[in-house]
Amino acid sequence: MLWITTIAGVVFAIINIQRDVYLLAVLELIYAGFAACLLRFVNTTPHLGAWTTAFLVPFFCIMEIALVLPQSSFTVFTWIQTIPIISYLLLGKRGGFWMSLIFISLGVVAFNVRYVTEASLLNLVVMANIGFSSLAVMMFSHIYESSRDDNERRLIELAGTDSLTGLANRMRLAETFKSMRNQAERNDLPLSLVVLDLDNFKQVNDRYGHEVGDSVLQRAAALFQDRLRDSDLACRLGGEEFALLLPGASLEQAADLSDGLRQRLADTPVAAGHDTLRVTFSAGVASLGEDGDSLSELLKTADRRMYEAKGSGRNQVVAAGQRYALSAAGTAPEERSE
Ligand code: GH3
Ligand code: MG
Ligand code: MG
Repeated sequence: MLWITTIAGVVFAIINIQRDVYLLAVLELIYAGFAACLLRFVNTTPHLGAWTTAFLVPFFCIMEIALVLPQSSFTVFTWIQTIPIISYLLLGKRGGFWMSLIFISLGVVAFNVRYVTEASLLNLVVMANIGFSSLAVMMFSHIYESSRDDNERRLIELAGTDSLTGLANRMRLAETFKSMRNQAERNDLPLSLVVLDLDNFKQVNDRYGHEVGDSVLQRAAALFQDRLRDSDLACRLGGEEFALLLPGASLEQAADLSDGLRQRLADTPVAAGHDTLRVTFSAGVASLGEDGDSLSELLKTADRRMYEAKGSGRNQVVAAGQRYALSAAGTAPEERSE
């Protein structure tokens, strides 16, 4: 778009110089220069929305000036039709709507100003044609942008969701971690990560089949989701391995919460044909800062502690310096050294 406006600005300026329309030619050249400058940092600026507005407002203003100049022909008004298309394309639904509304209205005013003395043009049919065709283009652009926006949202949601359990997947975990870490660092709050893995899950599959295994995974996921706050994130890392991202929770609080989940899952029988199953998990906890600053560091530490929990007999939670080796009845954490 910037390349097109830069080149088109120069071409139109040359045409307008030949036609002695110097005001427009100068404006077009200045604008082509502005668009060329934007090219240098459009890909890196964090304020793309603001710069897009700064790009479009003078663009449409020049278009409106061209409309009212006495040298312009009647056909210049067909350019109004491009306003909604460009606006919706670059600014999305909300920005596109307001930008289109303002500049199409200005275009209609410009038409009245320009042809106030020409009765043949200033009649209802011509006005209605210009007004309604511009409105139709705006409406189509709006509908198109709305459905594109909805589809994009749905695709992003799908791409970040595990299809079996409906929990977040690794991709969403990575994205959410970034924003949670920023928030935690800004507000000086803790952030903890729990990695948990169902115990002896292969036996469930082997004994009852993959379908029962799947429904156990779904039950476990539903239980995690049910017990977490809205601000927490439960994620399926893959297979029978899950991660919980807990903003505001210190290492101890995350360990306590995980242990509550562990007890609850162990106490919840899961139907498997005529039998009922008792499912448990082993978990490792890591905290931002003390165990690392990146997701991969926290995952690594939490994973290592989860394997320690496996090695110590499963059905327990390990955090730094303490192991929650609880029976189904629940006990206090026992001290351990790492
Ligand atoms: P451990 O306590 O050491 O974790 O033992 P485990 O049996 O849980 O671990 P292992 O890694 O040996 O087996 C994991 C099993 O999880 C193997 C695979 O059959 C099963 N699994 C992985 N993904 C899925 C899935 O999507 N659905 C089902 N039903 N099973 C799965
Ligand atoms: Mg397992
Ligand atoms: Mg596993």
